Amino acid sequence: MSREIFSQLGEDGGELSMNVEFYRHGLGAEEAESVARCLQGVFLTAGPLTRRFEEEFAGYLQIPYVIGTYSCTSALFLCLKALGIGRGDEVITTPMTFIATANAVLEAGARPVFVDVEPLTGNLDAELLEAAVSERTRAIIPVHLYGHPCDMKAIRRIADKRGLKVIEDAAHCVEGARDGIRPGQLADAACFSFYATKALTSGEGGAIATRHEDLAERLRLLRSHGMNKEAADRYTDRYRHWDMVCLGYKANMFDIQAALLLPQLRAIEQRWRRREEIACRYQQAFAAAGIDFPGTVPKTKHARHLFTIRVDPAMRDELLLHLQESGIGVAVNYRAVHLLSYYRERFGYRQGCYPVAERIGASTLSLPLYPGMSDGDVDTVITAVLSFFR
Ligand SMILES: *Cc1c(COP(=O)(O)O)cnc(C)c1O
Repeated sequence: MSREIFSQLGEDGGELSMNVEFYRHGLGAEEAESVARCLQGVFLTAGPLTRRFEEEFAGYLQIPYVIGTYSCTSALFLCLKALGIGRGDEVITTPMTFIATANAVLEAGARPVFVDVEPLTGNLDAELLEAAVSERTRAIIPVHLYGHPCDMKAIRRIADKRGLKVIEDAAHCVEGARDGIRPGQLADAACFSFYATKALTSGEGGAIATRHEDLAERLRLLRSHGMNKEAADRYTDRYRHWDMVCLGYKANMFDIQAALLLPQLRAIEQRWRRREEIACRYQQAFAAAGIDFPGTVPKTKHARHLFTIRVDPAMRDELLLHLQESGIGVAVNYRAVHLLSYYRERFGYRQGCYPVAERIGASTLSLPLYPGMSDGDVDTVITAVLSFFR
């Protein structure tokens, strides 16, 4: 179905017609039925399905509290606010991420401070972390890049020693684990994204997982105007006046999102296994051809959100175009955040500030990776990449 629509767009809308799209969601009959059932009820906004998703997601993650949000960006922002982080504070994060990570810090009024990344995984280098801590530092936001978990034990150890909070950007890492530790289990909170191209998706959506009841309570207030009752309570309880007890925001998940997410959550491990198979097929082919890709450390379950290769920066953009012309969807995750115009101009960053992140940013290229790909699709991608080097 989505393939037909896409090729139609190719004819009528002038878009490139693809052999293998970069991403195709796996939403189908179950999700459609789930949304139809939601529409038969009274709740469109945060109601019983949002609650059920929060409970089931908490069960999956083995974390006591989950708070559904409108996006991962709003989840990160709410965590900073809930932890009292703002003007005059510094938050340490990685330049090898999507801009939302650092932007959320700016939106909260604090200053993002970058730390360079490890060459193997592209994750924030825990060995460089402590040198970046100042007396203004309040928190660390590690990002589990492409789904490879950061070294949370090392990060937690430094955070505890220096009295810092840890907020995980787990937008890429719902299924991942390292040293037996999953997102949210060592951090103060972990933030997830259900954006259109993520492993679980409702088009837009997000969630926060936390072990701390008081933080969960505060996050629930902040996502809903600072009101002490949410929509579902106002509807189902006997009428009582609600109060506004703090300055909150508008960032709640709503039931149509939850209706889309619930069936996917029940199939999450099966979908992950297919991505793992595809990643292995890529790795075998590219290792044999001498093409570089990020590594995985021992005792790690990689969530396999993205599969990237790394090529000579002088050839990267040419390879991108070659793949696109062969009908293969591609992306770049990511050009280093500190080198983007806004960050350069506002903070004076330049080439050379974070050399490992810069090198990855100049050489990386993402290939299609989603459960709906057939082995034939994977081979089409591999053949197209190899044909460039021949
Ligand atoms: C997608 C993404 C986000 C933002 O997620 P939204 O749900 O779109 O706000 C944040 N961080 C990373 C690493 C992401 O990939």
